[in-house]
Amino acid sequence: MTRFVLPPAPVPSISTTDGESRFALRRVFCVGRNYAEHAREMGHDPNREPPFFFTKPADAVIAAGQPVPYPPQTTDLHHEAELVVAIGTGGHDIPASSALDHVWGYGIGNDLTRRDLQAQAKKLGRPWDMAKGFNGSFVCGPLHPAASIGHPAQGAVRLWVNGTLRQDGDLSEMIWPVADIIAHLSASVALAPGDVIMTGTPAGVGALMRGDTCEIEIAGLGRITSTIAG
Ligand code: MN
Repeated sequence: MTRFVLPPAPVPSISTTDGESRFALRRVFCVGRNYAEHAREMGHDPNREPPFFFTKPADAVIAAGQPVPYPPQTTDLHHEAELVVAIGTGGHDIPASSALDHVWGYGIGNDLTRRDLQAQAKKLGRPWDMAKGFNGSFVCGPLHPAASIGHPAQGAVRLWVNGTLRQDGDLSEMIWPVADIIAHLSASVALAPGDVIMTGTPAGVGALMRGDTCEIEIAGLGRITSTIAG
């Protein structure tokens, strides 16, 4: 048995819709600019360039419904409503044609972003890690098994702040659909059970303030609600 000099950290995990078993989280991959209107609002050409990825630490996860701490070193915390894909079977060079067989389930996520730090990083050619990977930056609702709900490919992705609709997209507007994302990502790294992929956000990203209530709905996955701590 391995002896550790310090106790190993607890395994980060996400609840599932069965209400008992949890999904042990390994890595959090995120796709940048996967909806054309959002690419445009961020000042980019939405032409179909290959998808690019960034990551968050697994322990950045915070369950939907838990108060989200307002992170330090920002005055521009942005919401990004996203479909979360949970990988059940890993692999390298997974073809798009069989990629969905590797999916365990789906959930609703919020890719919280310190937009001011991200803008600075872009300008200076620096990594996005501190803009994207802070504590509590990965809000996630319960995962729905694909065995029960299938593979959502169309339907509304909506986000409200204090009841006002801010993001209103459709899963069918993804530049790279889930199967293609898995094919591209697994060509770069070997995927493993417990990995999740945030699939990008539709247009309408904007700031969250202390005390705000943020609701996200994805067709077939219900709705999650989070409050930004005051
Ligand atoms: Mn995002």
